[in-house]
Amino acid sequence: MTTHGPTGTPAEFAGQHITVAGLGVSGISAARALAGLGAHVTVVDGGDGENQRAAARELEAAGITVRLGDGETFPEGTDLVVTSPGWKPDSPLFTAAAAAGVDVVGDVEIAWRLRETVAGQPPAAWLAVTGTNGKTTTVRMLASILAAEGLHTTAVGNIGTPIIDVVLGQGKDGARPYDVLAVELSSYQLHWAPSLRAHSAVVLNLAPDHLDWHGSMEAYAADKGRIYEGNTVACVYNAADKATEDLVREADVEEGCRAIGFTLGTPGPSQLGVVEGLLVDRAFVENRQQQAQELAEVSDIAPGSGTPAPHNIANALAAAALARAFGVRPAAVRDGLRAFHPEAHRIQHVADLDGVTYIDDSKATNTHATEASLAAYEHIVWIAGGLAKGATFDELVQKSAARLRGVVLIGADRALIREALVRHAPDVPVVDLDRTDTGAMSEAVREATRLAEPGDTVLLAPACASMDMFVNYNKRGEAFAAAVGELTARDH
Ligand code: ADP
Repeated sequence: MTTHGPTGTPAEFAGQHITVAGLGVSGISAARALAGLGAHVTVVDGGDGENQRAAARELEAAGITVRLGDGETFPEGTDLVVTSPGWKPDSPLFTAAAAAGVDVVGDVEIAWRLRETVAGQPPAAWLAVTGTNGKTTTVRMLASILAAEGLHTTAVGNIGTPIIDVVLGQGKDGARPYDVLAVELSSYQLHWAPSLRAHSAVVLNLAPDHLDWHGSMEAYAADKGRIYEGNTVACVYNAADKATEDLVREADVEEGCRAIGFTLGTPGPSQLGVVEGLLVDRAFVENRQQQAQELAEVSDIAPGSGTPAPHNIANALAAAALARAFGVRPAAVRDGLRAFHPEAHRIQHVADLDGVTYIDDSKATNTHATEASLAAYEHIVWIAGGLAKGATFDELVQKSAARLRGVVLIGADRALIREALVRHAPDVPVVDLDRTDTGAMSEAVREATRLAEPGDTVLLAPACASMDMFVNYNKRGEAFAAAVGELTARDH
């Protein structure tokens, strides 16, 4: 249970001139932390709205310079640029930084360099999770398992408290320092975290997403693959997704680090898998050629939420693999999975009305997630659409056509899905809603209800981002649930 790789010190940043790009949650956290360590911090942001001005006033009171209305000009004398996730790698500010020979890094890199801040304590190991889908679910399962082992831990990264705040808050006010962190990392964060060296890591799956940011599938995969660099104990991959295994093969890891697969089938040596309703470990056992260790029953995964969808069994296996790599006992895997509660808007059961089940999977913001959710039901009225982020829908529609009772399309890029339906599912009835006002979701749900037959599932799994119509996917899911609530017996 050691953590390798370079560690920084708070002193490294003292006196440096640091430009923080973006006045969002992670930018504000980075600016405050770095100023607190004695850096001269300037935050730049292209926006100049009331919210930004209010945030700027607060930072200025803490001695931080803020420049609103110009996110492009490179401030003279900058030693280091700290970026926020939304900023594209080809932003003019970063091009100028590169021309000046100045590094650009993200909040995860800063947190990593700062992780040795609690005097006399070895830094907490990082168990890291990425993938196109399932990250949040997996890190939360992992944190639950680690806690069941009695370890002091938290799920951190792309969720909850900014990672810099977690690392700097370690052991403050007499609190027990963390033994280990369950760290969710997006492809953006990995892109900007060159010296990160996790104890063990997993890429859950790899499918096209955020290609408008990364530029190409190759660039996106390469950023995801960075999570394996320098792993010391285990690189965990998805045996059903060869691209993840390829990334392990290409990674430069510490001597003795093992490749560990997870599978929904019977596990081979050095894999975790499923045998007759049991999650079993054939990787972290004495004799993996002959032996397997039972970890839990499939029904132990979030009991009370119904039969787990196949992708959540995969997420549980990935979390178990990382926990076992850290030395966690089998019983703690079981207890942690039992204690886990899924988050809202991820295959969330909303209601059963007149024999029709309504499911909110608003978090399915790309085609890969939607494919998993469409595979979990037999007859579906599918509500889809929003911002496509450069995705294409042919493969998704081809694979799912036989399950579709009907489709209701909403949002800016709905024509892309409609065209794929015309090509691959011409007989499926489609309702195309040409409105983006707040009442649109109510009409979508009414139309879906009209198309549904008893025994069907009305599934909100948009395969698109939500920001064309909603503040975020949470609000989209809430609008769906509210619309279902409005249905009266007369509507169906
Ligand atoms: P992330 O943090 O990567 O966005 P979440 O755990 O929040 O992942 O789940 C996002 C969406 O992806 C959910 O809508 C869920 O239905 C789907 N999903 C979760 N795990 C997987 C998986 N292993 N494979 C495919 N889809 C998944």
